[in-house]
Amino acid sequence: IVEGTTKVSVPVPPPDATFPPSAAPVFYNPEMELNRDINVAATAAFVKRLLSRKELLREEVHYVDAFSASGIRGLRIAGEVGIHATMNDWSPEALELIKENIKINELEEKTLATRKSANVLLHKQKYHIVDLDPFGTPAPFLDAASASVRSMLSVTATDTAPLCGAHLKAGIRKYAAVPLNTEYHSEMGLRVLLGACARELAKHEKGMLPLLSHVTRHYVRAYLEILPGTKQTDRTLKSMGFSIHCPKCGFRGPVYGLAVHIEKECPVCGASTQIAGPLWLGPFREQAFCDEVISELEVHPLNTRDKAKKIITFCRDELDIPMFYDQHVICKELGASATGIEILIEALKANGFEASRTHFSGTSFRTDAPITEIKEIIRAL
Ligand code: SAM
Repeated sequence: IVEGTTKVSVPVPPPDATFPPSAAPVFYNPEMELNRDINVAATAAFVKRLLSRKELLREEVHYVDAFSASGIRGLRIAGEVGIHATMNDWSPEALELIKENIKINELEEKTLATRKSANVLLHKQKYHIVDLDPFGTPAPFLDAASASVRSMLSVTATDTAPLCGAHLKAGIRKYAAVPLNTEYHSEMGLRVLLGACARELAKHEKGMLPLLSHVTRHYVRAYLEILPGTKQTDRTLKSMGFSIHCPKCGFRGPVYGLAVHIEKECPVCGASTQIAGPLWLGPFREQAFCDEVISELEVHPLNTRDKAKKIITFCRDELDIPMFYDQHVICKELGASATGIEILIEALKANGFEASRTHFSGTSFRTDAPITEIKEIIRAL
């Protein structure tokens, strides 16, 4: 198969296969091409930033694909971004396939294939860019990745049920945070993951700046720039906090800080509220970085370019107000029929509020309007 300009040999299940990609001798999921295409563009954009900083000019940039399977992710970084990539997988079949795929692409000089437990490798070796793309949760690997990483941590999580509150106990075990399974559960999952990354990095006195994060299909993906030092770490932790949700009236609001007192009563309707956290409450992308990724998407030959551009553009244009609203949920409560989402956004703006769509879904929006005003505006449409 070919992704971008990289050709790899992968096990192809028979057309009538009844098993998932994870049951093949070496894993390859064609559905994740979009994730890998965005990874090429985001890593290329980040490497340009790194190289523009004087201290790295004479050093080669090192990337590790800690859970490599066929090697496709790391090979694409070596071939399409042009930096050194280590591809690691503890499976002997995967290691053989990675070696074969390095040969196919003639990337022997730019790559290294290793067969280690990801945690052992990452505790031993430092890399500028650490990429975690495991089966399910990255939680058991975040400590070693945080120890290893120098410049950017890229992480995928496919355990959306624990992250989003659908499997509450599993979520608490993995991420030491309490999620809430609300209509904005996808954003909840993203903020639980980012919060867990911030706390793991903090143990190693590293702060973070989320450059880009997105929730697509059934996974969360984040690109986090590393900001070393105690000062940056303390600053990073100021973006941690809790989120209040009122199940009666739909009020939601952030409470910044880890040592805080939280009122249990909803400030709008007086009902008892639910509390989620600790969560990342800061921005989950940097607008300038989104523009740089969009520029990279233009120049790399990528099969999913249009979809990728759409996701990154939505991410860039979202307001930085935690926890989106869902138009259909509010309309259902009010017994109102839903207009097009753009009409609602324009109506919120016409009433003097800020409003934007989000990349999470076609019916979600962010606004600084209080819930009572949002309902008034929807009723009047
Ligand atoms: N990144 C790959 C891609 O984009 O196609 C997919 C990786 S697949 C989801 C996960 C891989 O991690 C499997 O090949 C598995 O053998 C490997 N693996 C699982 N646990 C591991 C561990 N603790 N250390 C190293 N490799 C591991």
